[in-house]
Amino acid sequence: MAEMTNTNIGLSRGLESTPELKRWLLELAGSYQVLTPVEKGVNRVFAEISPGLEVVPDAPQERTVLPAKKAFLPPEEPLFGFEKDLLKPPPQPPGTVIFGLRVCELSADRLLTAAMESGPGDYPFTSRRRLGFTIGVPCRRSAACFCEKTGHDRIGAGDFDLFLASSEEGPVLWAGTVEGRELAQGAPFPVRAIEEEIRAPVPPDSQAWPLDALPGLLRESFGATMWEELATRCLGCGNCTVVCPLCYCFFTRDETGWDPSVGRRLRHWDSCQLVAFARVAGGHNFREARSERIWYRFSHKFMRMQEAFARPGCSGCGACLHFCPVDIDPRRVIEAVLEVTGSGQGAR
Ligand code: SF4
Ligand code: SF4
Repeated sequence: MAEMTNTNIGLSRGLESTPELKRWLLELAGSYQVLTPVEKGVNRVFAEISPGLEVVPDAPQERTVLPAKKAFLPPEEPLFGFEKDLLKPPPQPPGTVIFGLRVCELSADRLLTAAMESGPGDYPFTSRRRLGFTIGVPCRRSAACFCEKTGHDRIGAGDFDLFLASSEEGPVLWAGTVEGRELAQGAPFPVRAIEEEIRAPVPPDSQAWPLDALPGLLRESFGATMWEELATRCLGCGNCTVVCPLCYCFFTRDETGWDPSVGRRLRHWDSCQLVAFARVAGGHNFREARSERIWYRFSHKFMRMQEAFARPGCSGCGACLHFCPVDIDPRRVIEAVLEVTGSGQGAR
């Protein structure tokens, strides 16, 4: 493992799939669950690496269907088992290495971790996350990307464990954490200390939204007709939250057999866009109207998360737009908020 310092972080495309890279990842798979994006039909998904899989760091189609968060917050997981008065802990999670994350995905992972660690902390998530490593790769910008609007277009040390990038002397690994540096023992590329930000490729004249003002503007926009108009298009299907790297709502259910004192408690991803999300015992629904649910989704991201973490709960990855059956574009939604509150001028 060679030691160097960085002067210019290469985010240019052209990272080839090398046999050395794959060999290293397969070696890591001896000690960890190693996930990498792979082609599956017309889609791209995270899958466990195996000798037969092709590892393509610079893939033409980068967006996976489900985000990498599923490694630390699975769509379904047991929280505990029970047998009469006895509680049984869930199985110990595996250590996981996620290879192939883009700048916005790494930034989202950092924010999701902060959200899950806040307050009493989400034990199942944090115990998985502490055993996890992230390895970033350069991104290609697609028409649905807008990370520069949300401030998730840059990462630095601590936001990732390793970042594989191209440089004049070939591929290099930037170490963002001590743990990443240790993981890179035996890596086939030189390892450098990260001293600068890594930035996603963004249009030179692009501007972030007024993120500090958005919480107030979203409050002001509550009840505006723009939400009713969106509700006439939105199907309330929940796709947008399922594919979002920064949505983390869940519900729990108990599973028992003939003997109801023996079973387990599971949790599943939920979606604030589904009509039953805010329905409570007795049948009252706090957000029966679709327009309220859409406002709730955007207010969680740009109001509550912004206020709690000084970052919006939207990385600008564009996955929700990509997978929305009716093409609801978060950029148009925030632009409409700016417009109806009279803040549109110069804010885009
Ligand atoms: S994916 Fe689109 S249609 Fe479905 S709930 Fe989200 S915004 Fe509405
Ligand atoms: S709201 Fe949409 S664009 Fe923003 S992080 Fe979630 S999926 Fe990506």
